[in-house]
Amino acid sequence: MRLCRFDSNRLGLVEGGEVLDVTPALEVIPPQRYPLPTHDLLIEHLDRVLERARSLAPSAPRRQLAAVRLEAPVANPGKIINAPINYQAHIDEAKTDKTLAQGATGKQTMNIGDWGLFLKANSALIGVGAEVKLRKPDRRNDHEVELVAVIGKTCNRVRKEDALKYVAGYSIGLDMTIRGTEDRSFRKSVDTYAVVGPWLVTPDEVGDPNDLAISISVNGEVRQKSNTSRMVYNVQRLIEYASEWYTLHPGDIILTGTPEGVGPVKPGDVMHAEIERVGAFDVRVAAEYAG
Ligand code: MN
Repeated sequence: MRLCRFDSNRLGLVEGGEVLDVTPALEVIPPQRYPLPTHDLLIEHLDRVLERARSLAPSAPRRQLAAVRLEAPVANPGKIINAPINYQAHIDEAKTDKTLAQGATGKQTMNIGDWGLFLKANSALIGVGAEVKLRKPDRRNDHEVELVAVIGKTCNRVRKEDALKYVAGYSIGLDMTIRGTEDRSFRKSVDTYAVVGPWLVTPDEVGDPNDLAISISVNGEVRQKSNTSRMVYNVQRLIEYASEWYTLHPGDIILTGTPEGVGPVKPGDVMHAEIERVGAFDVRVAAEYAG
């Protein structure tokens, strides 16, 4: 199933070019009182939400996909976890283009096992119906297309053999990045610099997440084109690695790293990202830099 959020927190099932509005399925989520949990409630209750959505689907109002504004499929992730240097060819390009890895000045190795994972601020998250608003016109602002795995159940110290049991689904992420010397959590946490969408695809539709064609083009020109089989740490290993350091909660988002070909975008560009069996989207870079 392909589950989307659209038009100010409506819930949809995507079928072909249509969105079935199953918003009433959100009623299965138990009411909450302050303080709210720091994980995503829809993902925590995803099984029940999907069950209700399935029963609503035959009589649900239908909208054209192209006519709705898609929001991030996870509204309230507890954390946005990111893998650095997780494709060998990207490591190689970072070695020759020092501007790509300046945030790690002083590091002698180029190995994810030495670098660890990093976090982007949740306030950077947008869906594909929004625009990426660039900052810092004097800096290089790059796209990084990445497979996204969304955690479905709380887990800690997971073995990689068990890891996929904790995945709620997959999506496509753009880890937008300002190049420079500052820490990554700073340069990659600009408002709108975490694009996730177009929807959440359940694992049964994706199959092996480590064998998916992945690409991004800018204004029709292909920039990155690879396959998730080339990840250094595959999805299972990333979950094992992350949960070795912190508990993972429903709705935690893992961006699994980007292949080679990262490059700059400028105001007005249109990025087209695509991952096999997950989906595709266009997202626009706003015409002006953020004021
Ligand atoms: Mn990245």
